[in-house]
Amino acid sequence: MSYLDLDRLTEEDDLIRRNVHKLAEEVLRPLSIKVDRMDPRDRVAPGSPLYDAIREMKRMGLHRIHLPKDRGGLGLTNLQRYIIDEELGWASLGFATLIGVDAIPFTIAALFGSERVKEELVKPWLEDTEGRYIGCWGVTEPEHGSDYILAFRDREVESFGKGNVVIERDGDEWVINGQKSAWVSAAPVCTHMGLHAQLRDGRSLRDGAFVIVPLNLRGVRKGEPVDMLGNRDCPQGPVFFDNVRVPDDYVIAQPPFYELFSDQLLNLTSVNMGAFSVGLARAAFEEALKYARSRIQGGKPLIEHKNIKLKIYEMFERVETARYYVRKAMDFVYTKFFVEQSFTTPPRYARAAQVYAKKIAFEVAHDALQIFGAYGLSREFIIEKLFRDARALLIEDGTVEALSLDAADDIILNYNL
Ligand SMILES: Cc1cc2nc3c(=O)[nH]c(=O)nc-3n(C[C@H](O)[C@H](O)[C@H](O)COP(=O)(O)OP(=O)(O)OC[C@H]3O[C@@H](n4cnc5c(N)ncnc54)[C@H](O)[C@@H]3O)c2cc1C
Repeated sequence: MSYLDLDRLTEEDDLIRRNVHKLAEEVLRPLSIKVDRMDPRDRVAPGSPLYDAIREMKRMGLHRIHLPKDRGGLGLTNLQRYIIDEELGWASLGFATLIGVDAIPFTIAALFGSERVKEELVKPWLEDTEGRYIGCWGVTEPEHGSDYILAFRDREVESFGKGNVVIERDGDEWVINGQKSAWVSAAPVCTHMGLHAQLRDGRSLRDGAFVIVPLNLRGVRKGEPVDMLGNRDCPQGPVFFDNVRVPDDYVIAQPPFYELFSDQLLNLTSVNMGAFSVGLARAAFEEALKYARSRIQGGKPLIEHKNIKLKIYEMFERVETARYYVRKAMDFVYTKFFVEQSFTTPPRYARAAQVYAKKIAFEVAHDALQIFGAYGLSREFIIEKLFRDARALLIEDGTVEALSLDAADDIILNYNL
């Protein structure tokens, strides 16, 4: 019995699954455990195992899974994209997040950038197998976390206040000032940021721009990497902008396109986060099943005790049901965006996929840890890491509450009875 029994995989699907699982099991997961246990500064210092993981993922082309073939992508089906995401989530939420945010600025530049941007930024990133080009996604700010999730539907958005990063045009360049939050994934190691910034004369966070910022420009400063409870294998840290100048071409989206664009980008990240969450949940379920088969208490394996049996079934049910909803939502969102080039896909399905999968990942990791007893809290098994990572999931890429509120606004306004 395998985890994709309900699907009819083609030979190519199965080959992709086996290859990515091999990388996940033999390379990424062991490296992620090492990185997780390191001091935040050591994690990003030269020689860190983090860079081995980035190189391995780039060599397999995992940064190119989103783009269609004619834009330099691997030309995968949506099911194949899903399979890769789930395997990455199974290996390490941190590495999955890292390769996910890496793709954001460059994938967007490949789709909407000028020829110059494609030549200067996208081409070398596509060809990179060493981790010389690493992207990140700068959205949240010291004073705006959930605000950025809710900004595109909340009628009172103007009361949210001014953005902490502002951008204004100066001749044929743009000037950026301000600070992104300390939580930007991969910021300490990345070379380029897909930045959301409010226009200096904008009325709310909706009046913004999406800009590709090379982080070696004058005026960019990175803060210290932060020490977090979970997702530690993806370093996080703040980025400061002091009169940073970018060419006009690097501003990819401005009003009125910016609003539509940002909403669709969150749809894309939502379904990817959903798939990572299912992968994490499956990892916790499999660890619990393995352990419950081997641990003897009351004279028999744990698996023969009714309460444990029920827990195993419930975990299985959650992983399976989440997988099929996330897959369907991912297929819907990717087809709308990449094939139909639609910018009006409603957020409710992608948000439901993300929120549901994050919740079940936390529940499954919680129940799995309980099956391990005290061993679950020790570092002898990976389950304590999965539990910490599952907790981070409930906040990363939007808290489950903010994502749900945003989806609720869409449902209340647009659901046809
Ligand atoms: C592991 C991890 C990775 C991350 N990676 C990135 C990244 O790559 N790029 C990036 O830009 N950011 C990143 N973040 C930041 C993340 O998106 C924010 O932490 C998240 O959106 C919540 O914002 P906040 O932390 O400021 O919490 P707040 O917005 O201050 O929320 C605090 C609490 O109040 C609730 N709340 C907030 N506003 C409302 C409201 N209007 N109505 C009701 N309840 C509300 C929230 O649900 C939450 O429980 C990451 C965070 C984590 C933990």
